[in-house]
Amino acid sequence: MKLKNYNYIALLMNEILLQNVYACGKRCDILVRGNLIAKIADKIEAPAAEVIDCSRMAAIPGFINMHTHAAMTMTRSAKEDMTLMPWLQYIWKIEAQIDEEILYWGNKLACLEMIKTGTTCYNDMYWGVGIAARACDEMGIRGVHSYCMLDNGDMVKAEKERKALVRAFEESKSFSSLNMFEVAVHAPYTVCADNMRWAAMFAEENDLPIHIHLSETEQEVKDAQKNWGCSPVEYCESLGLLSDRVIAAHSLWLSPHDIELMGAYGVTAVHNINSNLKIASGYKFPMDELMAAGANVTLGTDGCGSSNNLDMLEALKTAALLQKAWRNNPEAAPLSTLLKIGSENAAKALKLNAGKIEEGRLADIVLIDMNNVWFTPNYNFEANLVYSANSSCVDTVICDGRIVMRGRKVEGEQEILDNAAACGERLMSRIK
Ligand SMILES: [Zn+2]
Repeated sequence: MKLKNYNYIALLMNEILLQNVYACGKRCDILVRGNLIAKIADKIEAPAAEVIDCSRMAAIPGFINMHTHAAMTMTRSAKEDMTLMPWLQYIWKIEAQIDEEILYWGNKLACLEMIKTGTTCYNDMYWGVGIAARACDEMGIRGVHSYCMLDNGDMVKAEKERKALVRAFEESKSFSSLNMFEVAVHAPYTVCADNMRWAAMFAEENDLPIHIHLSETEQEVKDAQKNWGCSPVEYCESLGLLSDRVIAAHSLWLSPHDIELMGAYGVTAVHNINSNLKIASGYKFPMDELMAAGANVTLGTDGCGSSNNLDMLEALKTAALLQKAWRNNPEAAPLSTLLKIGSENAAKALKLNAGKIEEGRLADIVLIDMNNVWFTPNYNFEANLVYSANSSCVDTVICDGRIVMRGRKVEGEQEILDNAAACGERLMSRIK
């Protein structure tokens, strides 16, 4: 109890004053106290606070990457120009050679990249929760971790996977508040029906989100029709796996009935545009249709094996351009919607008190440097951010009230690059 009080006082002592920052459409001061946004006003006096002069900066909520496989930074550029299934086979071969040290530096590299590109929270689908949580603690950003169940219909393996997930869940109970846990089911075509039902039940019992790849390719939908006589979304519903706990990565090949179901159950869809484009899975993500049906739309990058980076700003731009292009409608994906799918909607899905620059919210804030060509002139900050700028404009990142990057400098950056590069060489030497 004493220790808890001590930590609480220490948090209270931590004050950061963002002076004269552009946020929510105007210039203001923002006071961060502990891990929260304590006050937003025209002028704030806070003598004890660490002051950051933000006269050429804007504050935005940290991006929340809703679908990634963080440690797949170690598969970045390993295999290019391939279709999904052969590519997956190759990636699985590499992943079988990933040991704990490679996993650790892969996670650290991912956190470093996310900080540099303004992401303060990511929803991961991988293995090694303890290592992933350690990376988040050391780097200071939030992660949602799991054990990803994948049994390929093998009943012996299915039981092992359930046990491994329960063990990971138990382990996660000792993690810091930066780390959350969820149930992860690789996909309806790689996880048996029993485990799909079990995942839904376990998530319900323990109040956890469910992370799944869903309707990523046209072939997946065709196979589902052949195997189960219905779409992957309908199959999930038949197993009791549709609810507002579900975070469905890709959600690309959806019928009107699928969209109706996802809306009715309040499912969160994650658009992974760059990964989809690169593997040529498709690009007609039904953003407007899903939102109109009542589904929650968010954005992710997918792992670096397919998307090559974890850059949410780049993903936002590509997503917007594609929506406008295939709909032949420049009014599609307006800026107000884009910024919501990058953070606010994701926070809602994770039940995280973040995603907005607002008093009382968690202080997960990104400071954008506007003293450059991309924000000059600056008639419309949001337009410049999405369509003109790139992530090199991310100057400072605050997560949970702590500065994790300032002036683009992250503590220990060179050590991470050196170790991750060495791990990559070791990993590839095992494949050849
Ligand atoms: Zn994925």
